[in-house]
Amino acid sequence: MSKTTWPKNLFIGPHIYKLSTVANLRAETEIGLTNLQTQEMKIKKGFSPAHESETLIHEMLHAIWYMMSVGHHVPAEVNKDNILEEKIVTYMATGLCTVIQQNPKLFKKIVDIYNVN
Ligand SMILES: [Zn+2]
Repeated sequence: MSKTTWPKNLFIGPHIYKLSTVANLRAETEIGLTNLQTQEMKIKKGFSPAHESETLIHEMLHAIWYMMSVGHHVPAEVNKDNILEEKIVTYMATGLCTVIQQNPKLFKKIVDIYNVN
């Protein structure tokens, strides 16, 4: 079980999401949830740090999808029940996690470049 402590606030563009880990979500199979209206992001407890990271990136991509209005460029019949969004977010999150894992020095460098504090 992960004991990773995540920041309480997560910034996605101009929006601040409240991030928390919870014991249960709506469905047994659900491991992450982003509420775009309340700007809450929840990650289910009990997974490895790597799995929690992937879930977090997955949920961030949903928030970016919404913030950048990606859905407005996808015909409703193509993204019926948000299935296309879910597939794209899942593939991109797993792909991005893999690239981060395989190129840690590169991503540390990128974080250093953007870290203006
Ligand atoms: Zn999703």
